[in-house]
Amino acid sequence: MDIPRIFNITESAHRIHNPITAEQLATLGSALRLEAGTRVLDLGSGSGEMLCTWARDHGVIGTGIDMSRLFTEQAKRRADALGVTDQVEFIHGNAAGYISEEKVGVAACVGATWIGGGFAGTIELLVRSLRTGGIILIGEPFWRQLPPTEAVARGCLANAIADFLMLPELLASFGRLGYDVVEMVLADQDGWDRYEAAKWLTMRRWLEANPEDEFAQEVRAQLTAEPVRYAAYTREYLGWGVFALMPR
Ligand code: SAH
Repeated sequence: MDIPRIFNITESAHRIHNPITAEQLATLGSALRLEAGTRVLDLGSGSGEMLCTWARDHGVIGTGIDMSRLFTEQAKRRADALGVTDQVEFIHGNAAGYISEEKVGVAACVGATWIGGGFAGTIELLVRSLRTGGIILIGEPFWRQLPPTEAVARGCLANAIADFLMLPELLASFGRLGYDVVEMVLADQDGWDRYEAAKWLTMRRWLEANPEDEFAQEVRAQLTAEPVRYAAYTREYLGWGVFALMPR
């Protein structure tokens, strides 16, 4: 079981697989006023940066589940490097339907809400692991500018304009689902650059090391096209944020 190989190639050097920066992740950890010993569940935990740094900085404990074998190994190595292996656990697996045995103070899915069939289904899944008074974290894109055409939405690698909402509508929809939005940290274009542009050097280095690989043509095509596509579309039109929610 694994995610499509292309992501394990293009994001192999990423610590954070989203447009949120390390600084913003720290800001979010502080904003949530985490207490030592708080249990955190992270579905689609990637390379584990959120759990590992919050374990180091705030003394949280927790579990991450991720379908990428590579990212899960990286998460374990990161826990080791930060000296938090007794606080965090990383499981390689499918997080769809995952409910923790013990209730958690923070239940998160940051940039992987397809796990629950979209953010509404993911919130429904996460709340089943949440203790009373706990916080749900959802990382999700939104349109910072509404695409003028469906072609522009596809340029952002969305299927359609309808895939995402504008920020006020996204916040309103959390309310309609019965949740208070109690905090948020939003990505900016610099953060998007860190996430997207970091893939380009990784792809270039990977191509130099793997010229005969069966994926070389695909990676070459992406490296050639991505900078212009990203600047024309994603960077202009797509926003992204982590939203902290509490059931009303
Ligand atoms: N939350 C992390 C990773 C976000 S990228 C971060 O912010 O850095 C999305 C992640 O979801 C990837 O790590 C990918 O491997 C993982 N993923 C995709 N489908 C999954 C599934 N069904 N179950 C668990 N993880 C999944």
